[in-house]
Amino acid sequence: MTNDDRGGDRAPGLTQGFATRAIHAGETPDPATRAHNTPIYMTATFTFDTGEEKEAAVDSSLAWQGGYFYSRTGNPTTSALEAKLASLEGAEDAVVGASGMAALASLVYSVVRAGDHLLVADDIFAISRVLISDDLPRRGVDVSAVDITDLDAVRAALRPNTRAIVTEVLSNPFMRIADIPALAAIAHSHGAKLLVDNTFLSPYVYRPLPDGADAVVHSATKYLAGHGDALAGVVAGAKSIIDGVRYHLDAIGGAASPFNSWLVMRGVRTLPLRMEAHSRNGQALAGLLASHPAVEWVRYPGHPSHPDFATAERLLGDRRGGMMTVKIRGGATEMYAFTNATRLCSIAVSLGDLYTLVYPMPKRGDIVRISTGCEDREDILADVGRALDAVPLPVG
Ligand code: PLP
Repeated sequence: MTNDDRGGDRAPGLTQGFATRAIHAGETPDPATRAHNTPIYMTATFTFDTGEEKEAAVDSSLAWQGGYFYSRTGNPTTSALEAKLASLEGAEDAVVGASGMAALASLVYSVVRAGDHLLVADDIFAISRVLISDDLPRRGVDVSAVDITDLDAVRAALRPNTRAIVTEVLSNPFMRIADIPALAAIAHSHGAKLLVDNTFLSPYVYRPLPDGADAVVHSATKYLAGHGDALAGVVAGAKSIIDGVRYHLDAIGGAASPFNSWLVMRGVRTLPLRMEAHSRNGQALAGLLASHPAVEWVRYPGHPSHPDFATAERLLGDRRGGMMTVKIRGGATEMYAFTNATRLCSIAVSLGDLYTLVYPMPKRGDIVRISTGCEDREDILADVGRALDAVPLPVG
């Protein structure tokens, strides 16, 4: 089964394949000039022939359907990207914001309120944890964390006032894989929503909405933009959810720059091509790491040693993306010996870039997160292999 064949790709109403939609969806030649590519509408405000037309556009529901009046609330370049991403996710609607955090914050603010309980996976991106475990409790929301791969623990952690479960599909940084269909069933039987961050896999590798998630978030900064040059975020889901996210995104001033929307849109057109390369290289790199004596363990969703490999086999197609985490034998000295010996790979935070990025994490048990890039596989393997050979093996 390829990722393109997976259920949900040709969801009702979607007659074209994923790659076709990545290129075409949301875009038409510019009505004013017939420019083939969607223009970057770099404007703060929009003009009207009459005051009455201005009044009609400012009506909030109109503004979200193309009645533009101010780019914090809506912009045609960003709208084109939103339509493209909604199509790729099989979603009724999508909203794009200035960053992944702007998108995630607007989503959780719109779903939970004071007095609610939110259940969150215990392994998530550090700043998402700040938002959910620090900020929300100060706003009167009860938050508790759970091992999201332990479904009995998830059921036991639900409370009468649990409004939502929040998880990453592939977790940052420990690469645990959430069983989205099972979690959706648990959440829905409790009257709660399942909110999912799928930044690490991208919609090419996995689409959570057809499996029952209520909303999917991405840091579009990563695989969607794909070139490490723009910050943006997106939430996709039912219009009833996305309307609420737009309301909050507008109120916190989280609009994406039209230029960034354009960069993400350009990146998304090649998402299938890039994810094929990331996946091919990731699979080969995980194999190299797993067989090297300097490596204690590697977690990659395409490698059978992954603790959630059965879940990966069930949910994902045969492409598993570029993200993995590796534990080098020893401690911080050995971890740094590895990262500092790389030459082609860049030592950097972030992920989903064309460049292979290695990210040492001394505060997370001396693990190294690797975002496999799109360079030639032989060159990535040679660089990582040489860096592993430079690690002093512990005596005994
Ligand atoms: N979600 C995940 C899983 C991430 O890794 C990140 C950033 O690294 C974010 C959300 C936040 O995205 P952004 O940096 O675009 O705000």
